[in-house]
Amino acid sequence: MIRENLAQVYENLKQACENSGRNPEEVKLIAVSKTKPIEMLMEAYECGCREFGENRVQELADKYERMPEDVKWHMIGHLQRNKVKYIVDKAVLIHSVDSLKLAEEISREALKKQVEVSILIEVNIAGEESKFGVRPDEAENLIREIAQLPNIRIKGLMAVAPYVENPEENRQYFARLKELSVDISLKNIDNVNMNVLSMGMSGDYMVAVEEGATCIRVGTGIFGERQYPVK
Ligand SMILES: *Cc1c(COP(=O)(O)O)cnc(C)c1O
Repeated sequence: MIRENLAQVYENLKQACENSGRNPEEVKLIAVSKTKPIEMLMEAYECGCREFGENRVQELADKYERMPEDVKWHMIGHLQRNKVKYIVDKAVLIHSVDSLKLAEEISREALKKQVEVSILIEVNIAGEESKFGVRPDEAENLIREIAQLPNIRIKGLMAVAPYVENPEENRQYFARLKELSVDISLKNIDNVNMNVLSMGMSGDYMVAVEEGATCIRVGTGIFGERQYPVK
């Protein structure tokens, strides 16, 4: 099942690139494996996946130990400051930085462990109450402050778009995030580049790619529906 799903995602990705005159090699697929067992991750690994995304620190750290060393781990979920120390040396990219305090903690732990940590700034692009992320009009200021911290590198922006039935409804938000990233890159802030645009999930990644995503985060579309334990 995973092999077929992946083939479908790559096919859709290629189509979205054709629609928008982009090169599929510009877009990285992150297999979002949260809640899924190692056997399923290994199946994706055997199909060639090397980039995996998790949203919980403990789960990322566990899977990090159990999966082959050449896997690249993306932290895509909300990160608590007291858990930063467990992942600064494990995640290639932390997608979900939305406050100076969190960035300071990442910087501090990175310095301690003598690593450079790459991050994205999470933007609450649709202004949803329930979502994490900095307000679009506050992103530049936050970026200017974080850019001064040692051992941390800003690589771009990330957003989680609203849950919608029709992915076209999210096109405006993806376009807005792209525009924000272009605006910020034109400011030429030291230590900051805007090469990465992490947007698009199972329901809307084709639209996200058409609007300029360089990183799509696909879970359900590869591994199937997630089941969360009943509380
Ligand atoms: C779970 C999750 C995804 C993947 O969602 P799907 O709809 O299953 O593709 C992407 N991004 C973030 C931040 C997530 O938490």
